[in-house]
Amino acid sequence: MSGEATILHADLDAFYASVEQRDDPRLRGRPVIVGGGVVLAASYQAKARGVRSGMGGAQARRLCPDAVVVPPRMAAYSAASRAVFEIFRQTTPLVEGLSIDEAFLDVGGLRRLVGPPADIAARLRRAVREGVGLPITVGVARTKFLAKVASGVAKPDGLLLVPPAGELAFLHPLPVERLWGVGPVTAEKLRQHRIRTVGDVARLGEATLVSLLGGGAGRHLHALAHNRDPRPVQVGRRRGSMGAQHALGRSGHRPAELDAILAGLVDRVTRRLRSSTRTGRTITLRLRFADFTRATRSRTLAKATADTGTVLVTARGLLRAALPEIDRRGVTLIGVAVGNLGDGHVQLTLPWDADPAAELDAAVDAVRERFGSAALTRAVLLGHDPGPEMPLLPDL
Ligand SMILES: [Mg+2]
Repeated sequence: MSGEATILHADLDAFYASVEQRDDPRLRGRPVIVGGGVVLAASYQAKARGVRSGMGGAQARRLCPDAVVVPPRMAAYSAASRAVFEIFRQTTPLVEGLSIDEAFLDVGGLRRLVGPPADIAARLRRAVREGVGLPITVGVARTKFLAKVASGVAKPDGLLLVPPAGELAFLHPLPVERLWGVGPVTAEKLRQHRIRTVGDVARLGEATLVSLLGGGAGRHLHALAHNRDPRPVQVGRRRGSMGAQHALGRSGHRPAELDAILAGLVDRVTRRLRSSTRTGRTITLRLRFADFTRATRSRTLAKATADTGTVLVTARGLLRAALPEIDRRGVTLIGVAVGNLGDGHVQLTLPWDADPAAELDAAVDAVRERFGSAALTRAVLLGHDPGPEMPLLPDL
């Protein structure tokens, strides 16, 4: 991370609804709701009336009876997304997709060739408007977190650069809801303690925040309120699935050993999902057998998740069902993938609001963030040889 504001957070405005307005001129300037049962997206005219993504259709129509409700056209949205990501990648090779309609771009190092980040951001907005016909907002800052806050503040159809010297002056007057990960439950809890702005959070000690919100959330918010976010822009995150695999020797493997390996893989994959604020619905177990043939077993859950426990239970079920075949043919590779990855609605909800399992995961992630992967290893791994791809045994 440089001392310069070179990270762009580019986020299409009311994406699905904007595509509908682009493709049907009669919808322009009007409140548009995509999706009938649940609101998948709302145009800014509908948002102004209180309609939000994730809201039930009946409630949305009550708030905005004159809204035009249209069914989603996923093929049109994917095509638009591909065109926009193409423009992102023409801007810089350092693109980290967060969802179907937003990405981080690092444009550091392009100054001499192309110009300063704010100019690049303005050009990017123009290219998306002219080439794809959609409005996009760009935040520019020194950290990913702050670039995302900046685009949130600049929406819709805006551009906002936070200069390094003005970071805390920009951040601290904002309401706590602007902090990445603060949803309604956490915001309410903080409000009860008269904590309303990011500045209020920053003035609290970390210990106080931890006692209020628990370890993971408390440390996370403390770091963000002080604008500490060392994560670099990572290429290749915009994928349909995330996975990890582990090669095994050819000799027989006991079920307990396979189970421990599986738990390590699930842990790794779900941690990566959470750190890129994504969730997935389809859990896939991949196997390679001694004769080099391969098999996959998957299950799709009702609800997208990045929760270690949920993914582990599902993956274990798949492994258990495959044990007779493994026994017969010998296994040389185990892989776990979480696919059907969420398209960004999820990042608006909290990883730790209302879900004790998520709170535990957030806490585990926070410890690892500070002390490295080796600091914590799920109990099931203890006593097993971790093998080359496993985390090191803990130093507990
Ligand atoms: Mg968006």
